[in-house]
Amino acid sequence: MNQKVNKGVPIFHEGETGDCAYIIEKGSVELSILINGTQKKIGTLQEGAIFGEMALIGNRLRTGTAIACEETWLIVIPEKYFEEKLESSDKFIHLLLKLILRRYIEMRTRLDNILTKSRCDSSLIIDDESMPDCKGNTVDTARQLEAENNLKYAFEDGQLELFYQPIVTLANLKVSGCESLIRWRHPKHGLVPPVEFIGLAEESGLIIPIGLWIITEATKACQRLLSHNDDFSFVSINLSGKQFNTGDLVQNIERIFQEQNIQAENIKFEITESILMANPLDIAASLQALKKNGSTIAIDDFGTGYSSFSYLHRFPIDTLKIDKSFVSTMLDNSKSYEIVKSLCVLAKAIGMSIVAEGIETAEEHRLLTEMGVDYGQGYFYAKPMPEAEFCNYLQEH
Ligand code: C2E
Ligand code: CA
Repeated sequence: MNQKVNKGVPIFHEGETGDCAYIIEKGSVELSILINGTQKKIGTLQEGAIFGEMALIGNRLRTGTAIACEETWLIVIPEKYFEEKLESSDKFIHLLLKLILRRYIEMRTRLDNILTKSRCDSSLIIDDESMPDCKGNTVDTARQLEAENNLKYAFEDGQLELFYQPIVTLANLKVSGCESLIRWRHPKHGLVPPVEFIGLAEESGLIIPIGLWIITEATKACQRLLSHNDDFSFVSINLSGKQFNTGDLVQNIERIFQEQNIQAENIKFEITESILMANPLDIAASLQALKKNGSTIAIDDFGTGYSSFSYLHRFPIDTLKIDKSFVSTMLDNSKSYEIVKSLCVLAKAIGMSIVAEGIETAEEHRLLTEMGVDYGQGYFYAKPMPEAEFCNYLQEH
């Protein structure tokens, strides 16, 4: 939450109870304390500084008065937010922080007692030199924390939603399956695309609960969609690399399939080349287990990462998804055209199916069909859409 404070306006007064700390995003703040009836300045804080932090560790009284020296923008950190973060942190870090905070409170209480005896001690003067060098970093961290908190709230509030985009068999234009693609239906900003929040979900660890929710929702949707069209046979689900690190991804998937009473054959998992490269041994074991259960695996955005043909036989991959950057340049760039053509030959030779992504024109569709590409996905057929719309689409195709 951001707050603007005009020049000369107090942010809080000494002796008040506080329930939040502040970070200066822009501007400066003067801190002062009351000594023998006169207000004495003890320091000026600049951009990036944190103040009022005592409030985060229990409803403590403000130990000084803070006034904006100029028009100042503050990031407010509520006590509740801090507590939630502390509760959800690693157990050891949690314990250690609690201990440090308790020691800090004891030290402050002792210091307060000394202070009441001699409030003019010059060692109390705060200058920017003695503040940790946090300018910039602190603001960035606070923004990141705020964004994470917003995403967590959105997830809990049911603002995340799955869209579905058809994957068609090129030879007969029948809808064989679809890819589930996440959206954030933001109450203020409308539909937010995944590129704007998947990275954040991965960095914050939120991708673990969100990822399980995606698998559950896509599996439920698959169950419903299968009854709409006889040609329709699979839903593709994108997996993030972080999901493999938990060690229980495969068990969770098995459990979800059982709960939703879905056949593993009806779910395809899409992973990118970079995921494979990051942790090949662990990922290979998980993919083998998924495959053994009956699911199929697709390599996403093929050709855009550190393409190494060696993993095509090292991992149990069923499908290559040719990235849209090749499809969109194929008509004007002979190299892209040849790459797509060679990938078709290669995939056929090693028994993999091919999906071409990002088909936008009839000409691209025609060329890819001619080359023998099995499946196509792109705006030429349909854009990703909510499940209800996709049901109608399935019934009409
Ligand atoms: P992706 O897996 O490569 O998904 C394909 C993207 O291409 C989708 O963007 C889709 O809307 C877009 N697309 C499809 N056809 C066309 C076309 O003809 N032209 C153009 N220009 N674009 C087309 P979207 O939905 O914004 O997803 C972007 C990326 O976000 C995905 O790339 C995927 O990496 C990630 N993502 C989406 N949903 C999920 C999810 O549920 N889990 C995870 N881990 N990542 C997801
Ligand atoms: Ca994908």
